[in-house]
Amino acid sequence: MTETTAFPSARTAVITGAASERGIGRATADLLASQGWCVAILDIDADAAALAAEHIAATHGVQSIGVGADVSDQESVEAAIAAVESSLPPIVALANIAGISSPTEFMNETKEAWDRVFAVNMTGTFMVTQRVLAGMIERKLGRVVSISSISAQRGGGTYSKVAYSASKAAIIGFTRALAREMGEHGVTVNCIAPGPVDTDIMGGTLSEDRKAAMSKDILMGRVGRVDEIAALLAFLMGGQAGFITAATYDINGGLQIS
Ligand code: NAP
Repeated sequence: MTETTAFPSARTAVITGAASERGIGRATADLLASQGWCVAILDIDADAAALAAEHIAATHGVQSIGVGADVSDQESVEAAIAAVESSLPPIVALANIAGISSPTEFMNETKEAWDRVFAVNMTGTFMVTQRVLAGMIERKLGRVVSISSISAQRGGGTYSKVAYSASKAAIIGFTRALAREMGEHGVTVNCIAPGPVDTDIMGGTLSEDRKAAMSKDILMGRVGRVDEIAALLAFLMGGQAGFITAATYDINGGLQIS
């Protein structure tokens, strides 16, 4: 039987893609900091990551660092996680949130653009997770949560198309297979599949007209908010979620009934 390791009071959450001010990652970083987590923000925009960390530390009185990192670049990931490990308490949770959209229709898709979508959305998730897991396995405690998308379940239908949808479907398989290997180490591995959320990833800030069009088939009659997605992520990263693993959580206002 796997022993349950106690959740330490001094603990760090690594959140990728958390610098963008209106994004899901940033909302998650804020919520976790308000719950006492030390927070490491990894983002391709180093200046924005540093600013976000500064703001989070000042607002919540926790340790926070922002590190510029391209999750699709292994050296960059190695340097970023090494920096986190040397300056913050042990990493207990990782949220793989960095991602890019891709509205290109299939017959116009290029190998380069396809590779970039997979490099960031899937390979980035693999590389950051593998690097962070070493410490989690050693400490016999960890939470890994990644972001898939309703696009993986419905084949797009909102903004992004085949490359994005396929990369987000890969996150579900990754989560399930990795959870099998990590259970014995006391590490849970889950993902969430959000429906449309009011951020800037779908070609810029959503107009009211676009939000209304996206809401048409959503049972709750609106698109999601970042704080709602952050709440689910923080729960899955938290101390009470130790019996949840290999799961994909729908959070879509009823747009997809799985
Ligand atoms: P967002 O604000 O654009 O967040 C994505 C973040 O990832 C940005 O801070 C972005 O930085 C960063 N990033 C992009 N490429 C990166 C790289 N190579 N390395 C490190 N960081 C990188 O959009 P969001 O809506 O919050 O998206 C967060 C995640 O949720 C994404 O994985 C997305 O696919 C997923 N998701 C979103 C929705 C939705 O409707 N919003 C629905 C389902 C799933 P820059 O801003 O500097 O590019």
